[in-house]
Amino acid sequence: MAMNLFSKIFVFIFLFLLFFSAEKLFAFEPSAKELNEFISSLEKQCKDYGWKDIKLNEITWEYYRVTSQKRSLIFTIFGGNKSNCILFLGGVHGDELPTVYVLLKFANYIKDNPALFKDKCIIIAPLVNPDGFFAKPSQRVNANGIDLNRNFPTHDWQASAWLQWERKCHKNKRYYPGKKPGSEQETLFQMALINRFKPQKILTMHSPLGFYDFDGPSSDLDSFERWLEEVSKETKHPLKKFGYFPGSLGNYAGHERNIFTLTLELPSSEPVKGVEFFNKFQSPIIKFFNLQIIGKQQYLKFTNETIKPAQ
Ligand SMILES: [Zn+2]
Repeated sequence: MAMNLFSKIFVFIFLFLLFFSAEKLFAFEPSAKELNEFISSLEKQCKDYGWKDIKLNEITWEYYRVTSQKRSLIFTIFGGNKSNCILFLGGVHGDELPTVYVLLKFANYIKDNPALFKDKCIIIAPLVNPDGFFAKPSQRVNANGIDLNRNFPTHDWQASAWLQWERKCHKNKRYYPGKKPGSEQETLFQMALINRFKPQKILTMHSPLGFYDFDGPSSDLDSFERWLEEVSKETKHPLKKFGYFPGSLGNYAGHERNIFTLTLELPSSEPVKGVEFFNKFQSPIIKFFNLQIIGKQQYLKFTNETIKPAQ
C-alpha cells in the first residue's frame, strides 16, 4: 500500500535527522582541551628524558587526527610559500627517542630564526607515533602493533608487503605491515600532510642505524647522491643506499611521488643523545631545506653551488 504524503514527509525528515546527527556523532573536531592535555603529557615526558630546553608552548600546534589511543597527531607550520614546502617527520618509530627531541628543538630553533623560512613553508610533525613513544617501555610499532613505515599504500603493497615480512623479516613483529595498507591513523596523517602541502622535500628521522639514505625522482637521484656524498663527508656520517620497502615512506613519497626524501638515521636511540645530535645535524638539515628544487614531476632538479657536474 502506498504511503500517504504525511508518512513520506515524516520518513524523509526522520532519515534526514538521522543522517546529520550520525555525521556529527562521527565527525572529528579538534579540541583545545585535548591538544593541551597532549602537549602537557609531552612536556612531562620531555622533562623525564632530560630535554630541558624544549619549549612546547612557544609553538603553535595543529592537529586534525588522533591515534587509536586518542593522542593528538600534531604538526606546526612556518612560512607561507606553498610552492617551496619541506616536511619534517620524527618519532615514526616510537622508540627512536632522540628523533623527537631533534625535531622539537628544531621547531623552537626555526621559530627563533624567522629569516630561515621567509621564502619557504616548513612543516614539522615531530611525533608521528605518540602511542609508541608513550608506551612503557617505548616501542617501534603503534598501539595496533603496526610498523608505520610499512603501512603506506604503495603499488607493491598487496603483492609484496606480507611476503617480505614473512620471508625477509621472519614475521618479526617489529616490522608488521598491518592487514591492509593505509589502515592506521598515523599513516593517514602523514599522507594528509603530503597531500595538503605537496612538499618538494621530506626529511624523515630515524635511529639507531647511523647513516643517510635517500629516495626521489629517479631522473635526478645521481645529483642528489653527489650532494649527499659531500654532506656525508662534512658531517662524518655515512651514506647508504638502503633501498625501499613495500609500504615505506621512501617508496610512497620518494619513489612513487618524486619527492626528494632524505632519511637521517641517527646513530643511537638514547634520549640523552638528543642535544649532541641536534648540534651535529643542524647544519645538514638547514642545507637540505635550502636546496632549490626547479622543474616539475619527474624532471625535478635541484640546484646547489657545491654540486659538481657529472663525470
Ligand atoms: Zn625507524
